[in-house]
This record gives sequence, C-alpha cells and structure tokens, in this order.
Amino acid sequence: MGLQDIKARIAAAEAEAGRPAGSVKLIAVSKVQPPERVEAVLAEGHRLFGENYVQEAAGKWPAWRERFPGVAVHMIGPLQSNKAKQAVELFEAIHTVDRDSLARKLASLAQTRGACPELFVQVNTGEEPQKAGVLPAEVDAFIAACRGMDLPVSGLMCIPPEDADARPHFADLRRMAERNGLAGLSMGMSGDFAAAIAEGATHVRVGSAIFGARVYA
Ligand SMILES: *Cc1c(COP(=O)(O)O)cnc(C)c1O
Repeated sequence: MGLQDIKARIAAAEAEAGRPAGSVKLIAVSKVQPPERVEAVLAEGHRLFGENYVQEAAGKWPAWRERFPGVAVHMIGPLQSNKAKQAVELFEAIHTVDRDSLARKLASLAQTRGACPELFVQVNTGEEPQKAGVLPAEVDAFIAACRGMDLPVSGLMCIPPEDADARPHFADLRRMAERNGLAGLSMGMSGDFAAAIAEGATHVRVGSAIFGARVYA
C-alpha cells in the first residue's frame, strides 16, 4: 500500500470502468495521522487531502499550505454549525452538508464573504439512525432548498453501512445525483474505492490504505 499503489489501483479501476484516466480525484484522508506520514505524501507531490475535525485541521494545514503550494483540504467529517465559519475559511470543499440549519449557516457565510467552498450533500443511503446525512427520500427537496439559498452544491457524498455490500449504495447515490443534475460523487474509502469508481465516483476518500492504520490517542 501507499500513495503510488493506490494511484495505480485507481487508474486500473478507471480503465476497467471505461472512464477517462484522471477522472477520479484522490482525497488522501490525513485525520489523526502522524505529521511525518503526511509530510511524506506531500513530498511525493500529492496535494489533495481530507480532514474530519475542524480543530485538528486548523492546527496542521496553515503551515503545510505555506510550504507546499497548491494544497487543497476537504472537510469530510460532521460539521457543527458553530464551527461553520472556521470551516469555510479552512477548506476548499465541505462534503458533509446534511441539514437545513447548516445549509442556512453556510448560505449566510457565503453572502458575507462573497465566496463559498465547493459543497457536497451527505446522504444516509443506509438510513442508519446513528449516521449523519439526509435520508434518500428527502434528498431532492434538500438539494432544491440549498439551490434556493444559492449554495454551490456540486455533488453528493455517502458512507455505506459497515457490514453491507457498498456497491448498491454507490449505485443509489449515483442515481440521486443524476436525477438532480449533480456531477460530483464523493464515495469510496480504503476498502471499497474500486467499486465506487465502477459506479461513477469522482472523489474517493482514502486514508489508511495510503498512510497506514490510524492511531487514536
Ligand atoms: C476516515 C474517513 C475516510 C477514510 O477511511 P479509510 O478507511 O481509512 O480509507 C473516508 N471517509 C470518511 C468520511 C472518513 O471519516
């Protein structure tokens, strides 16, 4: 495993799916990874990263942005409304827009700043009670509401249930995106990114397969 291996496997999955080379963006998920592992991947030339926690990202990325021009960091973890202001200043994209109150907060920040990160709506495709995300039956209305607030929604994101075959969830997400005219599909992690690419993923979020297992303090 490691960055080059994952890039090769993404290229193979693109080819197998008959998709153009380079059509899938690799988000290297660096949450809670030791800094030396992240710096090694930066030194290899990778520039797109994912983080789950606003506070952690705020502590790490400003210095790396100075040293490694072209870095983009995407927020892929649950976002509390009271962290939204910090988040829009830190991240190029937010993948976890999942409720009306957060959408309204982001819309008001976008108004004030005259800019907004790229946004993905998180969908709870497995309808799991403990999981964040808009329910499938509510997706169309939620996207319409976001558009009504002039929010730049570019795609959908999902995290399939742990014990299920992920592929039908990826296919569901693709159909929801298609019928809403959204091009972005943030889906697929270390264990299932090839299936996600076969179903049309435009962004895969891969952590442990690049950096090694996460060590939580
Ligand atoms: C941590 C995380 C990932 C990466 O998971 P791995 O299994 O390490 O690839 C991807 N997406 C989200 C939303 C995550 O929280």
